[in-house]
Amino acid sequence: MRDFGQITIVGAGPAGLACAIVLARSGARVVVREWKDRVGHRFHDDFQGLENWSAETDVLDELTRAGIASDFDHHPIDRGTVFDPAGRRHDVRGGRPLFYLLRRGSGEGTLDRALLAQALAAGVEVRFGDRVRAFDGAGILAAGPREAGVIAAGHIFDTDMRDGAWLALGHKVAPGGYAYLLVQGGRGTVASCMFTGFRDQARHVESAEGFFRAQAGLEMRNPRAFGGYGAYRWPRSATQGGHPVIGEHAGFQDALAGFGMRHAIRSGVLAAECLLDGGDYTARWQSELGPSLKAGIVNRWMFGLGGEFGMRLACRRLARGDAGDVLRRAYDLTTFRRLMLPLARRRYRKMLADPSCSHTDCDCVWCRHGDHGDHGVEEGKIILGGTT
Ligand SMILES: Cc1cc2nc3c(=O)[nH]c(=O)nc-3n(C[C@H](O)[C@H](O)[C@H](O)COP(=O)(O)OP(=O)(O)OC[C@H]3O[C@@H](n4cnc5c(N)ncnc54)[C@H](O)[C@@H]3O)c2cc1C
Repeated sequence: MRDFGQITIVGAGPAGLACAIVLARSGARVVVREWKDRVGHRFHDDFQGLENWSAETDVLDELTRAGIASDFDHHPIDRGTVFDPAGRRHDVRGGRPLFYLLRRGSGEGTLDRALLAQALAAGVEVRFGDRVRAFDGAGILAAGPREAGVIAAGHIFDTDMRDGAWLALGHKVAPGGYAYLLVQGGRGTVASCMFTGFRDQARHVESAEGFFRAQAGLEMRNPRAFGGYGAYRWPRSATQGGHPVIGEHAGFQDALAGFGMRHAIRSGVLAAECLLDGGDYTARWQSELGPSLKAGIVNRWMFGLGGEFGMRLACRRLARGDAGDVLRRAYDLTTFRRLMLPLARRRYRKMLADPSCSHTDCDCVWCRHGDHGDHGVEEGKIILGGTT
């Protein structure tokens, strides 16, 4: 391994911490610099799904191979219920877990706390309350989303409901996206995940919760509001000032549904491996993450084009066979998707900003929780030179 001296990682999200763990285990001197005073500050102990469909390898095996332990609370989910825009119910099932349910935030048992503990045990120094504006030497940028292309808002709550996973499609419950209800062990998360219509966020959350109350028996005790945002785009190189950019900072996120954790961790591991073995990070992420990212961009474009008719078809297809296989095939970069990609990319060339929201006098998550351009590192300094 080349001696880089100290390697700086900006951001202690899943991407930065996964990267730090791999580097430190190989003997590198790693410092993770985190702006906030804790890990997982963007999250609220809400349930998220670590998807298990975009590759043949089970995602937990993928983590093990990278030397990352799955020692966070997690539950395999191999079935669920999907409602189409007409409210029709479709039961879906996978031959293996469709995703692993886990919690995000700063609390015990969350993914974020588990990765932090592994990083510390590997000898990584983590500096909290350290907002990076510039740094010298070798480094990796993992500072999370810098725009809101998708927002999710809803409630976390306690409940006596049975465990389960429910998803609802349709403009009323989630414009351009989907609403979800996840319940496990007496805790629940319900949210509307919107790709547009941010300005009417409160109305969509109300519709989504009303829908699940009627169709899935949603019962909330002690509900706590939460919200967050994410960004997806296709970067040319995912480097800035010669430094690899990983996770959502690079725009790595499934454009169809906003699943970003697996891409975050994979890109973190890839960047670490490239630093260690002198590999070409741009070539590696483009060949290993590129196909499913591209398929996601085409899927998002087609999801918009297909409208409610397309959503009904998609629900039927998911329920017909092994939903995991259907989803896996949906992320294959087939000849058709390759051909459609230029059209889809034209639509998503720039980072998305919701055209329906002026971000003035609105109650959208981006405005309430975002930092309006204050989220990254300072303009003009090496880190915010613009990811290519
Ligand atoms: C409500 C919600 C639900 C979601 N659900 C799912 C899901 O079910 N499945 C899924 O796969 N994905 C989901 N996602 C997306 C997923 O959470 C993200 O893709 C993932 O957390 C990205 O990880 P990251 O490490 O790239 O960035 P982050 O987790 O955002 O971490 C970046 C870190 O960098 C820090 N930072 C920023 N700027 C600086 C600076 N200048 N100096 C120092 N530190 C800095 C931030 O404070 C932050 O801690 C969801 C997102 C939201 C908001």
